Amino acid sequence: MSPRVAVVTGGGSGIGLAIGRRLAADGNAVAFFDRDGASAKAAAEQITADGGSAIGVQVDVTDRAGIHAGIDEVKTRLGAPQILVNSAGKTVAGPTLEVTPDLWELVHAINLTGTFDCCQAVIPHMIEAGWGRIVNISSSSTHGGVAQMAAYVSSKSAVNGLTKVLALEFAKYGITVNAIPPGFIDTPMMRDHESQGLISVEQQIERTPVGRAGTPEDIAAACSFLASDEAGYITGQLVGVNGGRNT
Ligand code: NAP
Repeated sequence: MSPRVAVVTGGGSGIGLAIGRRLAADGNAVAFFDRDGASAKAAAEQITADGGSAIGVQVDVTDRAGIHAGIDEVKTRLGAPQILVNSAGKTVAGPTLEVTPDLWELVHAINLTGTFDCCQAVIPHMIEAGWGRIVNISSSSTHGGVAQMAAYVSSKSAVNGLTKVLALEFAKYGITVNAIPPGFIDTPMMRDHESQGLISVEQQIERTPVGRAGTPEDIAAACSFLASDEAGYITGQLVGVNGGRNT
């Protein structure tokens, strides 16, 4: 794989962190974006200590100006980005009739608008390079819906739709755009849900044909391939990584 500059949002934790590490192991320079700047910088420092190239940047994906400032910093310190992985996300659960306008807006601002704004900020650099890879981390909840997750499932379903639109629009520039809707992946977010009583890990595993929770590295492996030169004929796809739960 040719070394490129990659931006991974939500890169300070869980799936985004594993993806950033994997893309760095593949030889890419990686910019970890997270609203928690300390975790983003810690992720980058671990890679540079191992001889790789990485930076951590405090970016909240609900702040459009902040995204553009972050991309400018990436350009200055690493070079123009040609790989973008949108993993920053917020999960909320609760009865639909109790979803407040503010909560609805916030979930869409992070999961959908944040993804869109990051794509808009990076795609011009990909067009200039004549090559680009975008991977949006959506959710397997979009396959069949999940009761009491109206804001989350609708925002992630819209990310799947956005993925298809961008794939059609930018294919002619050598840019592919795909989504990975993960199944049940053992991350800090999921452990937080378990401690709140929102999910049972045992039940989730029982519903998963391969009989285990997914790991962030399972998602990172698929993302690594989608971000590679070899995946140039795959675009506009939802590539499920879910242990066989949604086929
Ligand atoms: P995670 O461990 O909580 O990681 C998500 C990261 O994104 C956290 O560092 C989080 O920071 C950050 N983030 C949240 N809002 C942000 C914002 N506005 N700007 C920048 N960064 C922000 O969760 P995860 O499980 O790895 O989830 C990663 C993605 O996978 C999410 O989009 C999630 O919806 C999706 N997903 C996960 C699963 C699963 O089973 N884990 C399944 C389906 C889909 P804070 O900690 O400060 O919030």
